[in-house]
Amino acid sequence: MTTSHAPNQTPAEAAAESPSTVAIEPAVGASNGESRTRPPTTNNHRDLREGEFWRRIPAYADIDRATFLDHRWQGRNVITKSTRLIEAVKDLAPANFVRDAEAGFQMAPMSVRVTPYLMSVIDWDHPYDDPVRTQFIPLASHRIPDHPNLTLDSLNEQGDSPVMGLVHRYPDKALFLALNTCPVYCRFCTRSYAVGLDTEDVDKLDLHADTSRWESDFAYIEAHPDLEDLVVSGGDVYNLPAKHIRALGLRLLSIPHVQRIRFATKGPAVLPQKILSDEAWFDAIVEVVETGRRMHKDVALHTHFNHPNEITWITRAAMNKLHERGVVIRNQSVLLRGVNDTVEAMRLLIKRLGSVNVHPYYVYVCDLVHGVEDMRTTLATALELEKQVRGLTAGFNTPTFVVDTLGGGGKRDAHSFEYYDQTTGVAVYRSPNVDPDRLFYYFDPVCQLAPDVQAKWQDPVEQKRMTFEARSRAQAGLASR
Ligand code: SF4
Repeated sequence: MTTSHAPNQTPAEAAAESPSTVAIEPAVGASNGESRTRPPTTNNHRDLREGEFWRRIPAYADIDRATFLDHRWQGRNVITKSTRLIEAVKDLAPANFVRDAEAGFQMAPMSVRVTPYLMSVIDWDHPYDDPVRTQFIPLASHRIPDHPNLTLDSLNEQGDSPVMGLVHRYPDKALFLALNTCPVYCRFCTRSYAVGLDTEDVDKLDLHADTSRWESDFAYIEAHPDLEDLVVSGGDVYNLPAKHIRALGLRLLSIPHVQRIRFATKGPAVLPQKILSDEAWFDAIVEVVETGRRMHKDVALHTHFNHPNEITWITRAAMNKLHERGVVIRNQSVLLRGVNDTVEAMRLLIKRLGSVNVHPYYVYVCDLVHGVEDMRTTLATALELEKQVRGLTAGFNTPTFVVDTLGGGGKRDAHSFEYYDQTTGVAVYRSPNVDPDRLFYYFDPVCQLAPDVQAKWQDPVEQKRMTFEARSRAQAGLASR
């Protein structure tokens, strides 16, 4: 049998995009190590894209290595408008795709921003199926209606913010939203109520980087001695200048009860050049990490790779530079249909992350977000994928699959539902450390359900009935324990 892959893909990456089939044999009792049939393994996670792969894009054909590795050049050449996208790939991408993307930009509820680095890892011969294109470049033809239960701030972060930009939901942890911009904009961003520019559909909450606003957040943290764990996010801390990284990090470390800080950034996945060429930013992160270590406090970087194609030799160089200075990096992926919802893609992602010293920490089932129903998948898919990846590698390098429940129940282990009806796509969870008296929900995308059930989701009475029935079953199950 022969296999084919796109010219700018490694064979491993091509394999990661093919569908999976899983044959299950009945258990026949214990076997010794020699007679057991072991699943085939490969080391293809080590086959990173090498060389000057960006030169395949007409707009970058003359860009030399030093220029492509310069984060300032990357920033100056980001794609934010369809005209620039067309300029970059006009002789490469099919004409129908270019028209589709142009219309997609007009309809997008989220700002569009794509780095030349990401543009260079997209397979422009097959852009409709490409897992990186899917995440960042909207297509009009892929737009399908939102879930009826969607709200703009579906996790109720604003409701759980006692002061502007500080989400305090869990007993010992808070989320510090330091700014509202990112090096790229992801179509599926949960925080699209605040992140990015206003769009036709959405007037965003203003969370720009404002040190006087931060003072109220610091005051709240100081007044709450239970808070030990701070996630500094946004937006994305990649966009904070070095002086703000240093000031914010050292200020949080100075609060006696703050024991752990996590800087959240998608940067390593979309612009690894910054770690290699922005010495001031890199030094600021390392200074906060080293200061924390001397104070016996933990400071880590949390990042967000979703597909193995995002990891190239440039990523490896950037992760090596952080690793050499003792910076711990953990990854939080989002499970996305057409991106990483196959066994092959998820396995390769996990192994490849481990090979560049990034710990796969979480895989989030995708939140309900405006305009991304084409990317959401079912909770059942997450449960099966978890089964397929557990045992692949060391436990500390195996992600936990979680659901961030609607309305602010917080993250729950995907398996811990009280009730899940795969037919109607309604899952019910409890969250005893957030609110022991409430039940919280997750809803599968309607388009993934059977046609007769999809029709029911069009009817408001049926919507209520299906949700009510799931809640009743969950309550009955709880009462019987
Ligand atoms: S980088 Fe994070 S905060 Fe920014 S758009 Fe993507 S998911 Fe949202």
